[in-house]
Amino acid sequence: MATGFFWDEKCFWHSGGNYAFTLPVGGLVQPLAAGGLPESPETKRRLRTLMEVTGLTRDLDMRSADMATREDLLRVHPETYLDEFKRLSDTGGGELGRRTPFGAGGYEIAALSAGLAKEAVRAVHAGELENAYALSRPPGHHCLPDFPNGFCLLANIAIAIEAAKTDQGLGRVAVLDWDVHHGNGTEAIYYGRDDVLSISIHQEGNYPLDSGFIEDRGRGAGLGYNMNIPLPAGAGHTAYLAVLDEIVLPALERYQPDMIIVACGFDASAIDPLARMLATAQTFRDMTLRIKDAASRLCDGKLVLVHEGGYSEVYVPFCGHATLEALSGSTITAPDPMAEPLKIRQPGPRFDAFLREVIADQADIFDALPEG
Ligand SMILES: [Zn+2]
Repeated sequence: MATGFFWDEKCFWHSGGNYAFTLPVGGLVQPLAAGGLPESPETKRRLRTLMEVTGLTRDLDMRSADMATREDLLRVHPETYLDEFKRLSDTGGGELGRRTPFGAGGYEIAALSAGLAKEAVRAVHAGELENAYALSRPPGHHCLPDFPNGFCLLANIAIAIEAAKTDQGLGRVAVLDWDVHHGNGTEAIYYGRDDVLSISIHQEGNYPLDSGFIEDRGRGAGLGYNMNIPLPAGAGHTAYLAVLDEIVLPALERYQPDMIIVACGFDASAIDPLARMLATAQTFRDMTLRIKDAASRLCDGKLVLVHEGGYSEVYVPFCGHATLEALSGSTITAPDPMAEPLKIRQPGPRFDAFLREVIADQADIFDALPEG
C-alpha cells in the first residue's frame, strides 16, 4: 500500500490580506514588494515542486479531495460562525478573528483544506492507503470553534476526526502537534473528552501567548488527556527527539490509539522567522520515523500528517521532503543543503544539559494520563 499525498492547487490560492509580515500595512508600516502574511503559498508550493523535481511524487499516491461539507464543519464550528465566514467570503473577503484574513471564495478554499485532511483520514482508516500526508492550506490547529486566529480559519484536524468518527466509527485518536506554536484550537475542542488525546510540543511563550501551559491537562472526562510540552527557545535536534522518546512515545503506548494524527508544522526549524528553535530536516525525518514505528506497533500503521505552519520558503521544502521520505519509506532523497551549518549551530553541551532537565521535569505529565 502506498502513502497518500493530498493537495490541491486551489489551496495555494488562499489569499491573505494587506499585511507586511504579521503587521497590518498602514501608518509607519510600509507595504512589502512581495507582500502578505508569512503564511504564504510558497512554502507549500515549493515543497510539492521539490518532490516533483526529485521524483518523490512518483512514489506517492497523489490525490485531491472534495471540500468538507457544511455538515462536516457543523460538527466542530457553530452555525453563526460559518454563516458569517461564508457571507464575507461571498462579498469579497475580510477578516473574522486575529490575523486570519481571506479573499473572495476563502470559505470554499478553507473547506477544501479541511476536505484534504478529512479524505486523508478516511482513506487511511478504510485501509486504502498505508498512511497519508495532507498539504492543507489554510492551516487549522489554532482555530477555535467560533474564533479564527494564527492564520487558521477552520479546525482541519478536528473536522477530519469528527467526520471519521461519524461515518466510519473511528475510535481513539492521538493528535501529536509538533508545530512550534501551541495547538490551542485542538486543545479547546477536545479539552473535555477522553476519546482524543491531544499532545502539543511548542516553544514556550510564543503563540498564543496565553496558552500551552504544562498545568493545562484537560477537564472532566478529558482530565489527563491534554498534554502540553513547552520548550525554551533554542531547543534543537536532540531535545525534540528526547521529548518524543521520554514523553510522547510512552504516552502513546499508554493511550493505545486507533489512529495517530500529526499536526505537522515545520516552524520549529532553525531558520523559521516565527520561532526560535533549532530543528533540522533530519529532526523531522527522525520524528516521523519514530511516530511511524509507534503507529505500526499500536494501530496497524494508521498515521496521517496534516500540514500546519512553517514559514521559511527555502527550508520548509527540505523538512517536508525528509518527512515524506520517512513516511513513505522512499529511497528518493533531497539532501539537506543546510545540514552542516545547522549542525554546527545546535545547542552546546551546557544548554543541552539544561534542556534534558526541563524535559525530565515534564515527564510527570505523562503520569496523569489514565491507562488505556
Ligand atoms: Zn506554527
